Amino acid sequence: MIVIIGSVNMDLVLRVPRMPLPGETLAGEKFMTIPGGKGANQAVACARLSAPGTPVAMVACVGGDAFGRQMRASIVAGGIDDSYIDSIDGEATGIASIMVDRQGQNSIVLAAGANARLDIEHIERARAVIESASIVLLQLEVPIPTVLHAIDLAHALGKTVVLNPAPAQALPPALLQKIDYLILNEIEAAMLAERESDDIPMLADRLHALGARNVVVTLGEKGVYGSFAVAGKRHQDARPVKAVDTTAAGDTFIGGFIAALAQGRGEFEAVAYGQAAAALSVTRAGAQTSIPSRDEVIL
Ligand code: ADP
Repeated sequence: MIVIIGSVNMDLVLRVPRMPLPGETLAGEKFMTIPGGKGANQAVACARLSAPGTPVAMVACVGGDAFGRQMRASIVAGGIDDSYIDSIDGEATGIASIMVDRQGQNSIVLAAGANARLDIEHIERARAVIESASIVLLQLEVPIPTVLHAIDLAHALGKTVVLNPAPAQALPPALLQKIDYLILNEIEAAMLAERESDDIPMLADRLHALGARNVVVTLGEKGVYGSFAVAGKRHQDARPVKAVDTTAAGDTFIGGFIAALAQGRGEFEAVAYGQAAAALSVTRAGAQTSIPSRDEVIL
């Protein structure tokens, strides 16, 4: 069982010829609503990329609105147990307003909505499913006290705790001691390591020194730097592909990496699988719509 504790958002995606300047009005090219949110994306990626029969459950909050119903339906359709997803009446489902330019670069504004209502009680109500998990995965799009409580609980229960500390923000330093796998991009690595540097091995070493047992830094089209307690440290190149939309590349990588770990694969094999899945995702538009299934990923 893989349990994901995190955000659910409806992505409001607008394709633009280029990013607008402050104060500018620009004609967009195409508008779409696409299921997203780092938590839900990573849950869908785990489910699509896992071996058949691997249970995946999500702990989250949606609003009692149309987006909330749509998001729950899409999570259930992805084969994910939604028993621990609370629908909150009178609250709006989280949204992400996303612009994607012709180069495939994106720019995102979030409104947390119901995600901000995920609290310690929701975690306690999900204790049974957390107990039955082998891996518990979290991000930072839900309230930090909830994340800290869930990490404490999962760690105390002896679970493999995976944290994707995104969006980047300061965290209590002692937290990293409870993290088995810290998966983050360069910006998040520099922020958590409190160093302004693009020396990735140095940043990873600093994150180890702060307590993270294993560190995986994703570097966009430059690939991944894996720094593992047992398997060692090295850089692994990304697959050369034509990027159309990089939304959810990181989420797809994480889902693939975790799905492979849950199957007992070695860490660098898990990196390769995550990268192959992420490379496919950047060739397609959208968040959850771009995440490939296990059958599509060729190693
Ligand atoms: P995030 O979206 O969290 O910043 P990254 O952009 O680092 O994450 O992407 C995560 C992974 O997805 C990368 O390590 C790489 O394997 C893959 N990826 C991302 N962008 C590309 C790209 N343009 N071409 C090939 N692979 C990519």
